[in-house]
Amino acid sequence: MLANGQTVIQQMEQWAPKRLAVPDDRIGLQVGTLNKKLKKVLVALDVTEEVVDEAIAEQAGLIIAHHAVIYRPLKALRTDLPGGKLLEKLIKHDIAVYIAHTNLDIAEGGVNDMLADALGLQDRRILSETMREPYRKLVVYVPDSHAEPVSEALFQAGAGQVGHYKECSFQLAGTGTFTPQEGSQPYIGRSGQREHVTEKRIETIVPASLERKVLQVLRSAHPYEEPAYDLLPLELDGHAYGLGRIGKREQPCTLRELVEDVKQACQVPYVRFVGDERQQVSKVAVLGGAGGRYLAQAKFAGADVMITGDVDYHAAHDALAAGLCVIDAGHNIEKIMKHGVADRLGSQLRQMGYSTVMVPSRIDTEVFKLG
Ligand SMILES: [Zn+2]
Repeated sequence: MLANGQTVIQQMEQWAPKRLAVPDDRIGLQVGTLNKKLKKVLVALDVTEEVVDEAIAEQAGLIIAHHAVIYRPLKALRTDLPGGKLLEKLIKHDIAVYIAHTNLDIAEGGVNDMLADALGLQDRRILSETMREPYRKLVVYVPDSHAEPVSEALFQAGAGQVGHYKECSFQLAGTGTFTPQEGSQPYIGRSGQREHVTEKRIETIVPASLERKVLQVLRSAHPYEEPAYDLLPLELDGHAYGLGRIGKREQPCTLRELVEDVKQACQVPYVRFVGDERQQVSKVAVLGGAGGRYLAQAKFAGADVMITGDVDYHAAHDALAAGLCVIDAGHNIEKIMKHGVADRLGSQLRQMGYSTVMVPSRIDTEVFKLG
């Protein structure tokens, strides 16, 4: 069975929801439609002409890419210019393009976590927080017989996630009372007679963004016509999301050794670096893409070295003066997302029983050559 575009993107957005993206980022469906069955989905860093040709050859009806294909307001669609020609080709071959950019950088397990994993960073934290998501406390009263299936449904919908723990809840047994009124269709009891029912009070936690979904699931899993529940705001800090990661290497090493590791882990032939190559480094910050603006934050967070792409000359001087080593491994290190996205979504689709195949693009879209 082939998955349709909406199903694939639903999986993508459960992982990297659009609300995580920084303001004005160009994300989401940019070309074509998701309303079609997909044999293959190509995952690419950039949508270049070669990548579109690859999608055509692979018979992929959708490209999921990291960098936008339309990033300035489109004033004309001229097919005699490169940009318009690319869009024409996509449309002629019925290839849709969906972009997951900063939402995928920020998402847990997203581009920055993929890079931090590849570099073996442990005990890691977010480098630059972009948002906090408030929690709600959900308290629901369920007849004993349905306590397990209702909890299960709530957990499946995303309730009960606390840090590295999932399916967190508290249950307390008690007695519920109610008198069904005329016109009701009670699951238990008879109209006009007060009932006493052994119930469980289930308490769990829900991120604000999942509130509607969890309540929907609660109403359909709960056996009562009118489920009793409370939804309470919590004065907690909320769940933090952000760009970049900072963590420790298992063993301190020299900057030179780290340079070699970065080349291997990120599969790049060369890097540029700032700092004394004999210096010992252990605390490492990483941020895919243009990370020049986050060097001060990395230093402040105690990093010995920052690994990123697109660092300019003056930012590099500032880092050197501040005693922060920098490894500019190029913007292209974000290509790690091709396999990361294809593997994760591919196995999810397989588990759901779909035969749609996720293919990481084989095209290297690095634009710079060494002279
Ligand atoms: Zn990027």
